[in-house]
Amino acid sequence: MIWLLDNGHGGIIEDVYQTKTLHKKSPILPDGSILYEGEWNRKVVKKIIELSEKEDIRIVNIVPEREDIDIDERAKRVNSYDNAFVISIHMNGTDEFFTDEKRGITTFYYRHNEGRKYSWVFQDFISDVIPNRGIFEKGFRLLTRSKHPALLLECGFMNNIQDVMFLKTENGIEQLSSSILKSMLKINQIMCNDK
Ligand SMILES: [Zn+2]
Repeated sequence: MIWLLDNGHGGIIEDVYQTKTLHKKSPILPDGSILYEGEWNRKVVKKIIELSEKEDIRIVNIVPEREDIDIDERAKRVNSYDNAFVISIHMNGTDEFFTDEKRGITTFYYRHNEGRKYSWVFQDFISDVIPNRGIFEKGFRLLTRSKHPALLLECGFMNNIQDVMFLKTENGIEQLSSSILKSMLKINQIMCNDK
């Protein structure tokens, strides 16, 4: 099986944020910086792949570009593979306000595929890093169009100070990426045993 990693939205090219959707960034943070979700998603995917080099696992980044590639095109890319599992990396929240009430990781699945069966694995491993908000069904376009099991991870809130100030650091990115990779390795193991 091959893992296909999707980094949500667009990154930054020559100081211009490529994401077309509004509010996909943090409010201005206490240190004066802003977290740009699409750029951060790319750092996480890159880190997962970097950490995976010592492991026996096949991973492809389906959006190596910094441009905000349309979701239909992303779906076309994932559907060009056989025997794959899709993980879409995002951060939750908005730049409109800060929240104290919401924080932590949410795993989204869609009923058309067997992603739900494995979503608990991500919740389990990632909750060692940030709090666990649970598993929900939602018809995100990539999840509905993917022919493979597909999960969308909303890895914390960019408008929650505790989440964002940790997750924006090198250490935060490394710990989160490592927990996602551990989940992927665990799922490989479960699938192997099921055969
Ligand atoms: Zn997003």
